[in-house]
Amino acid sequence: MEDLSGRVIAITGAARGQGWEEASMLSEAGATILALDVVEPLEDLPEGVEFHRHDVTRPEDWDDLAELVSRRFGTMFGLVNNAGIVGQRGTAGRLANVDLDDWNTLLAVNTTGPMLGIQRLAPLMSNGGSIVNISSIAGAGAHFAAAYGVSKWALRGLARIAAMELGPQGIRVNTILPGYIESPMQHDTLPVFLNAHKALISLPRTGTPQDIAPVVRFLMSDASEWVTGVDIPVDGGAMGHGGLQILSEGMKQMAEVLENAK
Ligand code: NAD
Repeated sequence: MEDLSGRVIAITGAARGQGWEEASMLSEAGATILALDVVEPLEDLPEGVEFHRHDVTRPEDWDDLAELVSRRFGTMFGLVNNAGIVGQRGTAGRLANVDLDDWNTLLAVNTTGPMLGIQRLAPLMSNGGSIVNISSIAGAGAHFAAAYGVSKWALRGLARIAAMELGPQGIRVNTILPGYIESPMQHDTLPVFLNAHKALISLPRTGTPQDIAPVVRFLMSDASEWVTGVDIPVDGGAMGHGGLQILSEGMKQMAEVLENAK
């Protein structure tokens, strides 16, 4: 396992789901974790993980965190911009029905928050530092929920720009694109949507927070020290076929029809 001893890493949205698992796994690898969220942790975080109330949309929360890190540790190794919200679902999320308040809130949490985090914490990082943005497969294709999709595309763009700007200082910035992950975010998902995901992926199961956290751990380790400005889908193969899987299925059915007609 990668050794992250002595690395101070902040993780947003760490009260539950993927952020909770990332905090737990990175702490187990030796990192000092600052777990940040607007709500209290759903389950106790492992001993040693420090929880702080923190709203990613508030510049003053980032200023306070930067002050705390510089006073207590002097330096910072990494930041995981994991916090995210989905906003309106169903037909309310469609482009024609976008509600401006919902749109602005989504962009504030999913995109502006990570920008503020990079802006405030990167000055505390030095050569070898690492930033990971948690986007989504919705940030790599057309997704029905307009605001969510746009916010996740923008997050990928932010990582590319940050990778270019911070690269000369030896700070890496990468993006993970999770597919369907069984976390509290999906707790009210209906079977029809879950089944649509299952039909899209190549592997025989949906994802869990335990599938994402090891990739974050890798990006926080020296094993990835020459990896920056890239998108890593962790999606069970949802994006690998580029949407053509449905054609392949049609081709298979056509072959069966032709076979039966012989
Ligand atoms: P989750 O809803 O279980 O956890 C998200 C966490 O973010 C929550 O604890 C929430 O309180 C926190 N949060 C929300 N607003 C915040 C704010 N303003 N400041 C600080 N924290 C805030 O969801 P998850 O599945 O663990 O999602 C983690 C990330 O992965 C999100 O960015 C999400 O968009 C992305 N993602 C999730 C899925 C999925 O299927 N679950 C798929 C692709 C991408």
